[in-house]
Amino acid sequence: MPFSKAVKYIKFFIPSFLRKRIRLLALSGDEVHCPICRGNYLTFLPFGLEKRPNALCPNCGSLERHRFLWLCLNKKQLLSGRMRMLHIAPEAMFFAKFRNNNDIEYHPIDKSPENYPEGTRQMDLTDLQYEANSFDGIICSHVLEHIPDDKKAMEELFRVLKPGGWAALQVPLDEKRGQTYEDWSITTPEEREKAFGQWDHVRVYGRDFGDRLRGVGFVVTVESSEREFGGDERFRFGLGKESIFSCEKKPTPQRKPKPFLDVFIFL
Ligand SMILES: [Zn+2]
Repeated sequence: MPFSKAVKYIKFFIPSFLRKRIRLLALSGDEVHCPICRGNYLTFLPFGLEKRPNALCPNCGSLERHRFLWLCLNKKQLLSGRMRMLHIAPEAMFFAKFRNNNDIEYHPIDKSPENYPEGTRQMDLTDLQYEANSFDGIICSHVLEHIPDDKKAMEELFRVLKPGGWAALQVPLDEKRGQTYEDWSITTPEEREKAFGQWDHVRVYGRDFGDRLRGVGFVVTVESSEREFGGDERFRFGLGKESIFSCEKKPTPQRKPKPFLDVFIFL
């Protein structure tokens, strides 16, 4: 029997909770640690079109980028204190953590909420239904590469972020490219998969991604898993080579009137 057919049978006959129990039993060990579900395992599972080793948490389903994001948010203490958070395309392994945190007023949104946990509100990132300067923190991971007008989406993220707030942005990045690759003549899912690596991606971001964010007003710092963690830690947390574009909206400096100029009114 071919492997894929055997997997189909297993999925059909064994309920998912039981498959998860078996998976966790088979992968019990202490070689790797998931900081999100706080489990220790023999290894993370391979994942992706071209299977990346040590990628998928067998318990919470987190990938390298989720674990790096979680470690960075906690290291910088960005989740401490009361805050209003916007989360676009809310990942299931974060959803309950944020929603159950009494200090976080949590706003999970997506254009297709049916693909995300219940409670996700339907909203287009290029037309956010929120007031300007209304969020302390924003998480937007692997979303912008799906949006044709990504500049409008970036402008919207900048608009709703409070001055002094932070936004953690991640995209698939091809560091070999200086310039982001777009080609609007490529429209079919097959062509897009071939050109951009996934059927529903509309571009491949290059090293200019940070400049695109700066172009709408953000102050951008790039966090890199290779800079933040040594080789052993990257293996233990299953981090791979990941980047976070850490965006800030600087408060506008208040221009104070110069009172001594009043004297000229009377001259
Ligand atoms: Zn996990």
